[in-house]
Amino acid sequence: MTARWFPDDMPVPAASAETVGWWEEAARHRLVVQRCTACGRTRHPPGPRCPACRGDAWEFAPLPGTGTVYTYTVVHKAFLPALVDTVPYVVAAVELDGGGGTRLVSNVVDVDPHDVRVGLAVEVVWEDMGPELALPRFRPLAAGPGTGVR
Ligand SMILES: [Zn+2]
Repeated sequence: MTARWFPDDMPVPAASAETVGWWEEAARHRLVVQRCTACGRTRHPPGPRCPACRGDAWEFAPLPGTGTVYTYTVVHKAFLPALVDTVPYVVAAVELDGGGGTRLVSNVVDVDPHDVRVGLAVEVVWEDMGPELALPRFRPLAAGPGTGVR
């Protein structure tokens, strides 16, 4: 089991026919981006057709798992009872390294919310929410045991 930052009884994301493959990769702790095999354009969330060339052939390309905070907000109000003990927490759009400009809305964890900044370098950490669901969260790149960074 991985580290946990959010409670078990949070609502889980809904997968669609177009996104289920992305969630299956995530369940294996693999951060990927959908890439058009005709022109190379990346896109997220996954969709059936390339917005650049209209091609319908694609693949999931592996990403290094690092990125930068593009924008963020700090949530102070628990909109769900399950989150009363979790606030404040950070919701961020993370621009993914190697993702061709794609951004992933996620959370920045293991950090004082007041220390999050636009441009903060982050890396993915996985939170297993169940046997078939893992959610990518991000923590400051320098974070880790012994670094002095929370
Ligand atoms: Zn294309």
